[in-house]
Amino acid sequence: MVNGGRIVALGRRAANDSTKGIELGDVAVMPGVVNAHTHLELSYLRDQVPPSSSFTSWARHIIGERRKAHPLKDPVVADAIDAAIEELLRCGTSVVGEITNTLFVTFDKLAKSPLAGVVFWELIGFNLGEDPDFDAMVHQALEDLGELPKTDKIRGSLAAHAPYSVAPLFFRAIKKAVDKMPFVPSSVHLAENVEEVELMKTGGGPWKTLMTDIGSWNHAWTAPGVGPVQYLDNMKFIDGRLLVVHGVQMTPADLALLRERGATLVTCPRSNAHTGAGVPPIEEFYRSGVRVAIGTDSLASSPDLNVFAEIATLHALAPSVPATALLESATIQGARALGFDADYGSIEPGKLARLIAVDVPPGTSDVEEYLVSGIHPGQIRWIES
Ligand SMILES: [Zn+2]
Repeated sequence: MVNGGRIVALGRRAANDSTKGIELGDVAVMPGVVNAHTHLELSYLRDQVPPSSSFTSWARHIIGERRKAHPLKDPVVADAIDAAIEELLRCGTSVVGEITNTLFVTFDKLAKSPLAGVVFWELIGFNLGEDPDFDAMVHQALEDLGELPKTDKIRGSLAAHAPYSVAPLFFRAIKKAVDKMPFVPSSVHLAENVEEVELMKTGGGPWKTLMTDIGSWNHAWTAPGVGPVQYLDNMKFIDGRLLVVHGVQMTPADLALLRERGATLVTCPRSNAHTGAGVPPIEEFYRSGVRVAIGTDSLASSPDLNVFAEIATLHALAPSVPATALLESATIQGARALGFDADYGSIEPGKLARLIAVDVPPGTSDVEEYLVSGIHPGQIRWIES
């Protein structure tokens, strides 16, 4: 039962209840799904970046493409963001975890849309010259966030890009700033590819070559000699506010550490296949007890922004993971990680009625199993309340 846009009660209708109802037909009623990792401003690169067998060659391609278009000036970029937001809604998305490198464009568009979520202002800087003032750079980023229009539905925060693209002191400055903000999560790409693990352990390999080629290598940096998860944990970067994205190369010890810190792992297996990062150990993720959320990643590396298609990939890669756990990852786990679980992510009295009806063929014996086997946008409708 819904009143004024909120859920007020949940249960079986009493025989003598005369309240007006809506007949939805053969459907599963669900909370809108949570896409916990997107880069909407890369939407103009849909079908433009071919699949790769190694992550660093994919990254080279993306860096080249991004140097061609100016996101703030090119209408192609802005139009693609609009279309991507429409697609998110068609796919039943209620909350989004969006990474931005331009801030204002995506923030404004999301704030005007029915979506809720967090826009992470992503900071990158590995080689920033002699004696860079990281605190000043983070302070500037906070000022930029302060200039955003005030809305409680879309919140701004800071994110560090990845261990190979953010200097250690920059990580510390970002963490210090996020700790002082009223609860908002933070985010980082971590243990995504083998080249990243190699760089952390040895200080060399394809990332060093790529960074040197683009003038971003920092000669003063010394490899920590440990894996990327341990590296960030040694800097006290990992805690319950952090969304750790990808984790393709994580070991059971890495996953245990994330669980202990209360971080949420965001998995994007279709993107991982496309970029050459590899196959994430999905069964290991769930077996470890770490919180798992789901993202599609950007349209530069994913065929669409449909979380149900992402779930179906997880299901195919890890058939032993219960359908219930996958559906929780796509709803309440993502909402909780992004700080929106008071209003989103489950059907409970008091929460917003941002609900979808998903067509389910009559006679389906296991509805959850059906929902994790691939739902297309044509089967999804928003329930007006
Ligand atoms: Zn990403």
